[in-house]
Amino acid sequence: MTDPLAAGDGRTVEADAREALVQAARDLERTGNVGTAGNLSLRRPGGMLITPSGVPYARLTPDRLVYVTGQGEVRGPGRPSSEWRFHRDIYAGRSEAGAIVHCHAPHATALACLRRSIPAFHYEVAFAGGSDIRCAPYATFGTQELSDHALAALEDRRACLLANHGMVCFGADLEQAFTLALEVEQLARIYGLCLAMGEPALLGADEMERVQALFADYGPRPED
Ligand code: 13P
Ligand code: ZN
Repeated sequence: MTDPLAAGDGRTVEADAREALVQAARDLERTGNVGTAGNLSLRRPGGMLITPSGVPYARLTPDRLVYVTGQGEVRGPGRPSSEWRFHRDIYAGRSEAGAIVHCHAPHATALACLRRSIPAFHYEVAFAGGSDIRCAPYATFGTQELSDHALAALEDRRACLLANHGMVCFGADLEQAFTLALEVEQLARIYGLCLAMGEPALLGADEMERVQALFADYGPRPED
């Protein structure tokens, strides 16, 4: 009988998922994230695969990723990221989420330390799904309180800042979640530049709705 999880070349979907998550974790420094800060996960049947807590990304291997069920049961091998609660809760609350990236990218984190949301100072703020990117109130890392704050700040959005901490983004897959993390960091960087130079003009709600409608149909057509 053929393996239902076979990817076609003898590898399994599970092995490919683990490999992709390790690669994305190693790439996290592209956001400006340093050390063992941040964590990533991928939705899997019945739960998620998540990066282990406090393991340097250069030493991360596919077998060190941790499977956690939707009920929060840890199936090992090691300890899951301390932020497994908000990863679990995002998958439970947002059916469109297939992958989650949390990082301490410096410009996003600087705004988060000012407890400032990113307003509609640039039309690309709509990448995160709305007319702003909210900053969730502070709570200690790894707590259910932080998860609750993050979920509220993510309402109708795919990204938010976490006060005095960093940012969290999700997407349908790892590539989308990772790209959004880079975009949020770039927006935070430019917003920070604006604040240093003056006060940026903000786009109105009507314009941001128009942009969101355009984004829904943005990019190459399948036949292109
Ligand atoms: P973990 O190494 O436990 O994932 O913690 C990093 C982090 O960013 C906590 O918020
Ligand atoms: Zn963190």
